[in-house]
Amino acid sequence: MDDCIFCKIIKGEIPSFKVYEDEKVFAFEDINPISPGHTLVIPKNHAENIWDISEEDLLAVQRASKKIAQGIKEALGVDGIACMQLNGRAVNQEVMHYHLHLVPRRADQPALPITRWSLKPGNMDEIKERAEKISAAIK
Ligand code: AMP
Ligand code: ZN
Repeated sequence: MDDCIFCKIIKGEIPSFKVYEDEKVFAFEDINPISPGHTLVIPKNHAENIWDISEEDLLAVQRASKKIAQGIKEALGVDGIACMQLNGRAVNQEVMHYHLHLVPRRADQPALPITRWSLKPGNMDEIKERAEKISAAIK
């Protein structure tokens, strides 16, 4: 889709900190991370939400998320990962291209807000470094 920011990221028209890619799925670091290692997993085919996405693409996202979650755990030594996915403006979906949030947390980090958080730009050098670490840890 021409005016979709995540489609542009997939095509490389907008830069991203990529951690994983396969035939159907692309994953990259959220640039306003809720916690270090916050990663977005998206289908390459544009679909807005859970109602729109094909079962095949949904399964591909889920399958990839398992690998990526394993990579995050190994790379960052986290205690837990929240998998969150918002559908529609009513639940504060901001980017209308289906995306699964993988939000890691160590036990000593602040509690995670659920669907509403303020966007604070992260440190791009640190995000890049974590993207490389996670990417390298994904088998
Ligand atoms: P949601 O509310 O689930 O639609 O969240 C959209 C997420 O996309 C937010 O956490 C944003 O920080 C993230 N986001 C928006 N633009 C970009 C971008 N160019 N690169 C990485 N993450 C982005
Ligand atoms: Zn899109």
